[in-house]
Formats: sequence, C-alpha cells, structure tokens
Amino acid sequence: MIFRLLAGLLVVTSASLAGDFRVGAARVDITPKDGTPLGGYYRFRGSAGVLDPLFAKTMVMEKDGVHAAIVVLDLSGTVRPIVAEARKLIQQQCGIEGDHVLISGTHTHTGPQQPRGSMMDDITKVNSPAGVSYTSMLPVWIAESVKQAKANLSPVSARVATGRAEGISFNRRILREGQQEAIWQPQKLTPKDRPAGPVDPEVGVLVFEAGDKPVASLLNFAMHPTSVGGGVKISADYPGVFTKLVSERHGADMISIFANGTCGNINHTDYMTGKRRSTLELGTALADAVDAAWPQLKASQAFAPRIRSEQVTLKRRSFTEAQIAKAKDMAANMLTKSFGTVPMAETVCILETLDKQDQPLLAEVQVIALSDDVAVVALPGEIFVELGLALKKASPFKHTFIAELSNGSIGYIPNREAYPQGNYEIVSARGEAGSGEKLIETALKLLGEVKKAP
Ligand SMILES: [Zn+2]
Repeated sequence: MIFRLLAGLLVVTSASLAGDFRVGAARVDITPKDGTPLGGYYRFRGSAGVLDPLFAKTMVMEKDGVHAAIVVLDLSGTVRPIVAEARKLIQQQCGIEGDHVLISGTHTHTGPQQPRGSMMDDITKVNSPAGVSYTSMLPVWIAESVKQAKANLSPVSARVATGRAEGISFNRRILREGQQEAIWQPQKLTPKDRPAGPVDPEVGVLVFEAGDKPVASLLNFAMHPTSVGGGVKISADYPGVFTKLVSERHGADMISIFANGTCGNINHTDYMTGKRRSTLELGTALADAVDAAWPQLKASQAFAPRIRSEQVTLKRRSFTEAQIAKAKDMAANMLTKSFGTVPMAETVCILETLDKQDQPLLAEVQVIALSDDVAVVALPGEIFVELGLALKKASPFKHTFIAELSNGSIGYIPNREAYPQGNYEIVSARGEAGSGEKLIETALKLLGEVKKAP
C-alpha cells in the first residue's frame, strides 16, 4: 500500500516537473490607413500607399504554468504608455503577467509614429486624429496577437545557432585624422578615415519545432532598417523581406520574428565606397546567413521561462545657458522650417530634458532565459553596438539575443567613449555618459540571477 502510494506520488511529481515546453505564435496585421503620420525622421509624412504590410508578431512560451511572450512590431520603436496599456490588456485577456511580456519594435522608418511626449509629436503630427486613431488601436492589436499565439500553444523542441552576415552592416560614425568630432553618415570617405567603432555580424537563430515542423523562429541582427528611405509608402523594410524569406525557405507556417540588435550606430551604407544595398538585397543576405546556420542548429533543453525586469533610473544630461537659448530660438521656427537632422535632434532633446527635468529618466531592463544557453535581453533605446558586443561577451549564456527599442525607448544610448566625439546620436541622447554601461551592468546582473535559479 505504502509502495503504491509512493509510486503514485512519484509519477505525479515527475509529470508536473516534466511538463512540456510549449510555444504558440501568431501575427496580426497592423498596416495603417492612408494619411497616418509616419515616424523615423524630423518631419511630417502622412502615409500614402503600401509597399508591404506591417505586423505585430508574437510568440508565447509556456512550461509548468509559467508564460512569457515576445512581441515585435514592424514600427520605429515602442513607447512606454502603449507598452503599459498593452501589458494591462494582456494580463486581463490572457492571464500573462505584464512583466513577462517583451514588446519591441524593428525600427522600420516607414511605419507609423507613436507619441513621445516631446516636440517630435508636433513635428510628426502624431496627435492628429489620424495619428490617434492608429496609436489608440495598437495595444488592442498587440493583446490580440498574444491571445492568438497563446491559443496556438503546442509542445515544441528548441534549437539554436549563431550565423554570420559579413559586409552588409557598417558603423555610421567615422573618425578623421586630426579631428575630435566624429563624422556622421559621410557621403564618401578618404583613405585616412576609419570607422569610430565595430559592427556586430552575428545573426541569432532560435527555432521552435513541433516534431520536425518549425512553428516559430526568433532572428536577431543589428542594423538600422532605413533601406526603403524616407518616403510615404508603408514598408517593414529589410526585416519584412528577411522574415518572409526565412519562413518560405524553412517552414511555410512558421512565424519568423525579427528583433533588432544593438544598431544605434549601425547602418547599411558602405561608407568607403558609397554603395547602398536594396531592401531585397539586405533581407536576402540575412536569409542566406540563416540558411548557412541552419545545419548548425543545436538542440537546447528549454526550461520554464525565467524572467527578471528592473527599472533603472538614469541621470539626464545637462546643458549650458547658451545651448538652451539657441534651442528655444530654433524651436520657435521648427514647425514651419527644417534646420537639418542634427540641429533639430539636439533642440528636441534639450527642450524635452528641460520639460522633464523633475521626472526620473527611467529605463526598463528585462531578461528572459529559456534554457541553460539561450536568453533574450530587452533594452529600451537605440543602443550602440559596442555595448551589445560587451553584453554578449560577458553574458553567462552562450546565445544572448538582444532586442533594442523594447518596452519603451529613451532614444539613443551611446557607449561612454562616444560622448566626447559628439554628433547626431550624442547630441540627441537623453542620458548622461555612462547610462548605457549602467543598463548593461543591470542586464548582466539579471542574467546571472536567471542562470542560477528560476
Ligand atoms: Zn535610429
């Protein structure tokens, strides 16, 4: 009798410990109507026509009752109020805790703008009726994609590999001999010029398969999606081509989700030669890199998602009286006249900082570990590649996926060394030097925690 009770107990215990790892994926169309204000540049563009559709793509992961969701939007980024509202709806409708949900944007520059609470809102007219009618629906669509993905949960096995895409991404900050300030996105370089920093050629590939049928993949690469240019036609840019090709080549029913890595200072123009690859060429090169990595995919024993999230308080930058006076002067005419990207970015940043100087500059760092060798890190801004490379190198996980522009955005986040070199990303950075390193330090602390324990 005692033996039979014990045996029964053992069966129950091992069954609950050995629950299946399940994944479900879904996508919801978030293509806007014509006339919707677009993001990506310091001017107003109302959408007119569609080159290719935009999606909210989602994977929900579950084991032993613990859920995590990763949502990536074909949008220029994410903003805190929309993330908060989406998380609230997801909690209500799907029972998944808000801080178990990662919401990111691919950074396409040909998708709708979201309100930032700065002068950008006036410049891009995001609070016009057309803008509000779009952004008010975003949380609903995000929650809908999570609901559908959760409904698709089925037992899967995980496989992971790291591919490489060499020679398609370039550091867009250039140092010239005898010059302190970095040059930003130069037209053509001289032989004496050199990139101010590296690139990250790694292509992260995580695939979930039910039997031998791939149901979802997470793809990771660091490069600005600006290849379509600043037009008014809607496009998901190269991530749209990339994910479509991966699904076509490896599983027609697979939802392929692209999270952009630390591409704050990384573009697709080869500044040495001036060559620019097309959207199709970029997406194809990345899909080819995934093809090359596919035979190297290795099984990874997924456990119940281990999730940590922390709000980091950063210090805002400070400005001289002269800088402030100049910014106010320019702002007075900025809605009717263009002053160029860099001066406008600086002005918007200075005025926002003044406006919010009594509010803390908050940045959420979130990590989701899925196995002993796979973790995803979410960072809220456009992170310089040096920080991403340092994070991957120091991470206790063999495969660390980094999703920038996640769970909100505080704009550009340069590494400490870049600050004295100035120019675009630096003059528009909200946090003082050292902010990026603080986020990486926090991510590493959280990765250390989830490596050890649930
Ligand atoms: Zn950018």
